[in-house]
Amino acid sequence: MSNWRDNVRKVVPYVPGEQPNQPSMIKLNTNENPYPPSPEVQEALKQFPAERLRLYPDPTAAVLVNEIASYYKVKPAQVFAGVGSDDVLAMAFMTFFNSETPILFPDITYSFYDVWAEEFRIPYTRIPLDENFCIQPDDYKRKNGGIIFPNPNAPTGAELSQRAIEEILQENPDVVVIVDEAYVDFGAESALPLLEKYENLLVVQTYSKSRSMAGMRIGYCIGNEELISYLNDVKYSFNSYTMDQLTLATGVAAIRDDAYFKRTTGAIVETREWAKGEFRRLGFTFADSKANFVFVSHERKAAKEIYQALRERHIYVRYFNKERIDNYLRITIGTRDEMEALFAALKEILG
Ligand code: PMP
Repeated sequence: MSNWRDNVRKVVPYVPGEQPNQPSMIKLNTNENPYPPSPEVQEALKQFPAERLRLYPDPTAAVLVNEIASYYKVKPAQVFAGVGSDDVLAMAFMTFFNSETPILFPDITYSFYDVWAEEFRIPYTRIPLDENFCIQPDDYKRKNGGIIFPNPNAPTGAELSQRAIEEILQENPDVVVIVDEAYVDFGAESALPLLEKYENLLVVQTYSKSRSMAGMRIGYCIGNEELISYLNDVKYSFNSYTMDQLTLATGVAAIRDDAYFKRTTGAIVETREWAKGEFRRLGFTFADSKANFVFVSHERKAAKEIYQALRERHIYVRYFNKERIDNYLRITIGTRDEMEALFAALKEILG
């Protein structure tokens, strides 16, 4: 009997939301943006000379890094770009979380964190959210090997104030603190201004939600130059060419069209605020969301049943069969029309 299996790294993988492909579906299950990317992105695609694909892309991704740096008014040496923020986060786990003391993250949060921790053999402790599904800064005042949390949190949508984030930073100068701002552009306050005071802060953002480009895979993080240089060293020791030529070209075009970005994120925030009233009227409760989704629970009907009934109508929302949250649905904010169709279906289902 051969025993090569003894040396396999066995992991329980992260399960992404499904990507069904039906003609008339309403897809509110993976927090994608219902609006297309900026027309400038389409233009960049049209203009792109296929001939250029002969060459390797610039391993430093300089055009994109420079554009992101100028947008956020930081130095290019403070920006690191990757293949979606999942790639940036995975690199950051590898680079910064090498202590034998457990890293900390909330018990209800992005379910990729424990997958990376397991994969890279990083010890971790899950810190329970309070009964209102909020992060309590006091819970992060204990010895640890690093801290990560999304702001707003996923899947709850709840925002942590900048003051609370600063409290966590003040208490933890000896570890890297990562704030995952995948959803920050829908009305929450970014931790970016805190970079001036805290050299151990890393802020991670993505094009997947607010810039309507989940299909292109662009994420980035901003931190002090030394943190970013360690991240680049790890990247170059893994795969130098993470950002391909088309990604670089479309990524630059998207961030330049700030008017479109503000208009579309503004429309989603407006739809979300209207939708909150509709959810309330139908008997749903939820934490106040600052993201492009709401995390709702119904007073009478089980989340799983609602999920299935919606699915039969080709409306896809996300259900997590997990302790503490198995009576909740995470529903992405779509266009006003999509949300109206959702509420019409919910009225039928709830009777
Ligand atoms: N962080 C959080 C909190 C998320 O919900 C997601 C989306 N699954 C990501 C990061 C990763 O997004 P992407 O890789 O598309 O940038």
